[in-house]
Amino acid sequence: MKIHEYQARQLLADAGVPVPSGTMVRSIEEANAAAKDLFSNGATLLVVKAQVHAGGRGKAGFVKLCRSAEEVDEASRYMLSNKMVSVQTGPEGLEVTKLLIADGVDIDKEFYLAITTDRSSGSNAIIASSEGGVEIETVAHENPNAIKTVPICPLTGLEPFQARQLAFDLGFVGKQVSQAVNIMMRLAEVVSGTDASLAEINPLIVTPATEADPDGKVLAIDAKFDFDDNALFRHPDIKAMFDSTEENPSELRASEFGLNFIALDGNIGCLVNGAGLAMGTMDIIKLHGGNPANFLDVGGAATLETVTEAFRIILSDEKVEGVLVNIFGGIMQCDLIAEAIVAAAKEVGFVVPLVVRLEGTNVEPARKILELAQSELPTMQTATDLEDAAQKVAAAVAATCA
Ligand code: GDP
Ligand code: MG
Repeated sequence: MKIHEYQARQLLADAGVPVPSGTMVRSIEEANAAAKDLFSNGATLLVVKAQVHAGGRGKAGFVKLCRSAEEVDEASRYMLSNKMVSVQTGPEGLEVTKLLIADGVDIDKEFYLAITTDRSSGSNAIIASSEGGVEIETVAHENPNAIKTVPICPLTGLEPFQARQLAFDLGFVGKQVSQAVNIMMRLAEVVSGTDASLAEINPLIVTPATEADPDGKVLAIDAKFDFDDNALFRHPDIKAMFDSTEENPSELRASEFGLNFIALDGNIGCLVNGAGLAMGTMDIIKLHGGNPANFLDVGGAATLETVTEAFRIILSDEKVEGVLVNIFGGIMQCDLIAEAIVAAAKEVGFVVPLVVRLEGTNVEPARKILELAQSELPTMQTATDLEDAAQKVAAAVAATCA
């Protein structure tokens, strides 16, 4: 589960990581009121930031530095009325409904700091670079030596000596070292305390030297977290941060029914049981020139109600121009799938071509059910095996699209 930057900043601040203060707002009026407050409290620079579950905002023009109330108004107006398209969103972009209005800071240097699971060491690892900021992906690609990885022992956690060594390796000097060490230690505590699978501060910055802080201040000015869904039951405070508006609506609806729905780019909806069969089904569809729009895995324990819901979800996807049902009945019974097809046909109706391949437990009664309902399923074809099914659905969709 992902959270927004404003929530991540709060988690970090609560753990003792220095973060500039800010307010989340949902409208231009609220943005202007927040800006007025911050400017009247002595701020001279604010930053307006789109709150969406995707990065690359800076380059997309959705992180704006503002020196006046008018600039905040203009930036908020732009972000709330335009979709954000960044390298992480795909061309359709994301709608922005929330903004963060935060104190802006002057930056002397930007670093990258993250903790995530490192499968090669079988533990979490702290990953850091002195070349942080918006170009970190390019650094990882072109200059991987500039990125340092330190494994974190699951028993002892991050050790202070590891954090100090890393701070020196990154080039922190003078009083920056203890500040950077403090941030790394706090970040490691948050990660283990919340079962986060990713915690990223990019950039971690050093502010320019001042008389009061001759070595500058080390601050986190952007933060991203991802949490292990399977551990959320023991973190109700984290679970409460869930923002359903950032999720694909069909995937959300499916998860409420215990179904696994994955949206893809093509036009053939796939209803299968089991993730392995889903992969095989998609491969064969591709092999025969088709392109999956999604796959919906009904699992083994589905009921008539959940399978009927599965068809509702697939058929409500505008991209779907054909449906392939591929069920290998083990625990799942084919007749239940057949009944759900008939129920879905009565309720929503299959206007698009439907190809059904059933095999396994109760396949004979299932075939009977479909045969008897043939008049309600004018676009249905049955298939003898998976190859035949994939060919039929690809051909039917190609014919209707032609
Ligand atoms: P991202 O592009 O989605 O990762 O958004 P960030 O919050 O990381 O902002 C992108 C870039 O904007 C940062 O790498 C900084 O260079 C710049 N930036 C963000 N906040 C501030 C700020 O308060 N002051 C200054 N000077 N630059 C900022
Ligand atoms: Mg960033």
